[in-house]
Amino acid sequence: MLALKELIENIKSCEVCWNFSDTSPCAICANPKRDQTTVCVVTDAPDVNVIEKTGFYNGVYHILRNVYDPSDEQSLERIKLSELLARLKKRTIKEVILALNPDIAGETTMLLLEKEIKTASPEVRLTRLARGLPLGADLRYADEITLASAFKNRTQKQ
Ligand SMILES: [Zn+2]
Repeated sequence: MLALKELIENIKSCEVCWNFSDTSPCAICANPKRDQTTVCVVTDAPDVNVIEKTGFYNGVYHILRNVYDPSDEQSLERIKLSELLARLKKRTIKEVILALNPDIAGETTMLLLEKEIKTASPEVRLTRLARGLPLGADLRYADEITLASAFKNRTQKQ
């Protein structure tokens, strides 16, 4: 198990979005045809593949790598939150779409992100995927049509 953990940690990452990639920035972050002003925040790298398969989203991503667990102080250090806030500080990003799984861990993490983003970058438009996704569903198992409509009908958090 330790060997596997080391292997995963040694995989190269894109230092912009934290997706696994041989290059940094990765192909998505470096693509001039992608909308670099819209960032979709997901939990894990496989979520990016799911969203990419819909072909519906043309922005860029931010992969948190973990969820926030209030009972575990160190979990705050394991999510790529300060990296996200640093990206927003450059003021080129106009919208952040929170696309974490609508389960308790995802909700807790999204609440934390909303609070931190509103404090650090109040000018950024903050949205969530629409509730087309069933409560407790895993983004990975959502069908492409449901996911595409969740993007389209995303709601702004006041
Ligand atoms: Zn990237």
